[in-house]
Amino acid sequence: MIQLKNIKKSFHDQEVLRGINLTVKKGEIVVILGPSGSGKTTFLRCVNFLEKPNEGEVIIDNFSIDCKKPNKKDILALRKRTAMVFQHYNLFKHKTVLENVMEGLIIVQKLPKETAKKKSLEVLEKVGLIEKRDAYPSQLSGGQQQRVGIARALALNPEVILFDEPTSALDPELVGEVLEVIKKIANEGITMIVVTHEMGFARDVSNHVVFMDQGIIVEEGHPAVIFTNPKEERTKRFLKRIT
Ligand code: ATP
Repeated sequence: MIQLKNIKKSFHDQEVLRGINLTVKKGEIVVILGPSGSGKTTFLRCVNFLEKPNEGEVIIDNFSIDCKKPNKKDILALRKRTAMVFQHYNLFKHKTVLENVMEGLIIVQKLPKETAKKKSLEVLEKVGLIEKRDAYPSQLSGGQQQRVGIARALALNPEVILFDEPTSALDPELVGEVLEVIKKIANEGITMIVVTHEMGFARDVSNHVVFMDQGIIVEEGHPAVIFTNPKEERTKRFLKRIT
C-alpha cells in the first residue's frame, strides 16, 4: 500500500500542492485527472522525490519518509521501490533497446549482466519489442520508444509504476499501442499511478480516479461514479469540457 499524507510543494512563492492525501492499494490503477497547471505532474514527481515535497509523508509498504527531514539514503531506498515512465521517454540515445532496459538493473540493482539480460529480454517480449532489442531509440517510432520506457520500468519490479502523461507526446495513431501495453501490465496486478488526459483509458482501465484542481484533490472515487455522477461543480465542468 502507498500512502501520501499532506503533501505540500511550492516553487518560490507559488503553492502548487496544498496538502494532498492519497492512499493507493496494492494492485490498484489510479488515474489522476485535472486541468493544465493543477499540479498533477508535480504530485507524481513528489512520490519518488524527483521533486522534494516541502511537507508531508510518503509511505510505501512499511517504508516511510518524512518530507521535512529526508536523508539521501532514504530517498534512494524510496526510489528503488518506484519506477517512472516519462512523457518524453528519457531513453539513452547511444544505447540499444536492450541496453536501455538493462541499465537500471545493472547500475541500480547491481544484478549480474547475464541475469539483467535475461530479465530485460522477458520484459521486451511482454511489450512486443523483442525483435527491436539491438535497435537504437532513433530507429524506433515514438510508440515503440515509449514501450521501451515501460519495459525499463517493468524490469525494475517496483512496488509502483508512476506514469507521467505517457501518451501525450505521441502522434494520435501511436497512442493505442502504448495504452494497450499499459492495459496488459495493469491486468497483471502491478500498482500504478497514471497522470493522463486519456479519458477512455481512465474509464476502462483504472479502479480509482482522482480529480485535482489548483493543488488539491477536489474529488476521487470509482471511475463509474466520477464519470457518470460527479458531485463537485469543478469536476462536472472539467468533464463537460473534455468528454
Ligand atoms: P499539465 O497537465 O499541463 O502537465 P499539471 O497539472 O501536471 O499540468 P504541473 O506540471 O504539476 O501541472 O505544474 C503545476 C504548476 O507548477 C504550474 O504552474 C507550473 O508552472 C509550476 N511548476 C512545475 N514545475 C516547476 C518548477 N520546476 N519550477 C517552477 N514552477 C514549476
